[in-house]
Amino acid sequence: MEKIWKLEEIRNIYNKPLIELVFEAATVHREYHDPREVQVSTLLSIKTGGCPEDCGYCPQAARYHTDIEANDLMSLEQVKTAAKDAQESGSSRLCMGAAWRNVKDDDDFDHVLELVRAVNELGLEVCATLGMVTENQAKRLAKAGLYAYNHNLDSSEEYYKEVISTRGYQDRLDTLENARNAKLTLCSGGIIGMGENAEDRIGLLAALASIHPQPESVPINALVAVEGTPLEDQKSASIWEMVRMVATTRIVMPKTTVRLSAGRTEMSPEGQALCFMAGASSIFAGDKLLTTPNPDCKTDQDLFDTLGLIPQKAYKKGDKPSIDESYKERPENSEKTKWSRPGHTIERNEEAKNKAKEARKKDGFEPRKVSSVSSVDES
Ligand code: SF4
Repeated sequence: MEKIWKLEEIRNIYNKPLIELVFEAATVHREYHDPREVQVSTLLSIKTGGCPEDCGYCPQAARYHTDIEANDLMSLEQVKTAAKDAQESGSSRLCMGAAWRNVKDDDDFDHVLELVRAVNELGLEVCATLGMVTENQAKRLAKAGLYAYNHNLDSSEEYYKEVISTRGYQDRLDTLENARNAKLTLCSGGIIGMGENAEDRIGLLAALASIHPQPESVPINALVAVEGTPLEDQKSASIWEMVRMVATTRIVMPKTTVRLSAGRTEMSPEGQALCFMAGASSIFAGDKLLTTPNPDCKTDQDLFDTLGLIPQKAYKKGDKPSIDESYKERPENSEKTKWSRPGHTIERNEEAKNKAKEARKKDGFEPRKVSSVSSVDES
């Protein structure tokens, strides 16, 4: 039975002297994981940009003016090629992200199901991040061979409202529950450096740790501030904040894979080594994370060689899902789930949107095409 953490207990861990916190986290890590093994994932943006949501950190939101090039859904052949490349470079998991708000029971989703199947058949663990999903959609994904569903909580419930106004925190939790009910493993984490305080980070960890069973995978991202987004001027989180966050995550979710995600290009090799000591057990590989930069494979290989780390094999922690052909059956009456739209005003999001309108007018740009469905959670 997993421990039920009180907020106060997580706060006490988070606030420990760093050197003691890292030692404690390293001890927990050794108890539950092989400390030399690192699970390597590749994140592939299968549909980029044009998203109708207003996530303040995200260059894929159509309302902000960033230099992201929007792309339609990738073809089966493109995804298979990318998956084989990822596999050859040592990844055991491919995470496919589409900048959608939520999944709809349409041709695009049918296509994504075929992508999931194809990547599963190559022997990779398949993860998808497609925005909000209903239980039935999650079940179809599972039958097509999906192993994990990613949907990040991003921050504490309180600070989430300062970053996103177009969808609610409860929808995020409901999506995770839908994925769990479909017997998918969960990948859910957050972003630090968005202007939140320590209490928000503790709140995020409390929310994640209170999901039972706890998420199998928790990505910890450091904000990559992208020009044109509301958070463009945000100062990056320090390596010490990152280490503290990783170590606390490791202690409160001992069995979870803790993934160093966005922001690694800003971290020194020594900083990353400290994160591995503190319990990080996964990275995203490849020189791009959806739309933001990431260390290239050679740089990561050198780091692994220096530290004596080895990539984990696929399906070390769970069975490969078998394909159930009924994933092809689109429901006749698709569920009319009402995902929420809180719609409160976030000043900096409004400013960025207005700046984008001005910039487009000045440059004679057409407004970006907004897709009918949306969301990567990238996160
Ligand atoms: S829902 Fe996902 S893709 Fe859309 S703006 Fe938010 S983070 Fe970006």
